Amino acid sequence: MRSILIVPIRPVDHAELTALVTPLSNAFEIPVSIEESNYLDPAFAFDSYRNQFNSTSLITALLDRYPAQSGKIIGITAVDLFVPVLTYVFGEAQLDGQAAVLSTFRLREDLYGLEPNPKLEHIRLLKEAVHELGHTYGLIHCHDPECVMHSSTSAEEVDVKGKNFCGGCEKFLRGL
Ligand SMILES: [Zn+2]
Ligand SMILES: [Zn+2]
Repeated sequence: MRSILIVPIRPVDHAELTALVTPLSNAFEIPVSIEESNYLDPAFAFDSYRNQFNSTSLITALLDRYPAQSGKIIGITAVDLFVPVLTYVFGEAQLDGQAAVLSTFRLREDLYGLEPNPKLEHIRLLKEAVHELGHTYGLIHCHDPECVMHSSTSAEEVDVKGKNFCGGCEKFLRGL
């Protein structure tokens, strides 16, 4: 059955994951569940020189851990992620693959010296979750600045785009 499994990667705020279930299920029109029993410990992916966690290693670990999972897998964590060529990433996904990872770290207002804003941070996390999962369904970055598949490299850019797919991306997704 087509489905999406959210895997908590320590540390993470469980309430933030719960809040994603219904909107993600609506966005992709499939069941979404959270892996409740077995949180992933990301220690193996830690890079002590960068003081960050390697997102590609986390994706590999998710695929190893859930070889029988027929749907998509998205690991979500509060730790800061990187890929070697970039300073940081919000997340990473396998294009037209099975797994993605996403971090709340750079989506937090207090990282930028601002007051916490849980509502805004939820919307940012939702947009980026839809975005990364969109990649796993084969969607590439979209030129439409309103589209959730538009590339964002800062929290401000996440705020500017919408949380929905544009007509073209939606059509691609429904055509699968
Ligand atoms: Zn992307
Ligand atoms: Zn689009």
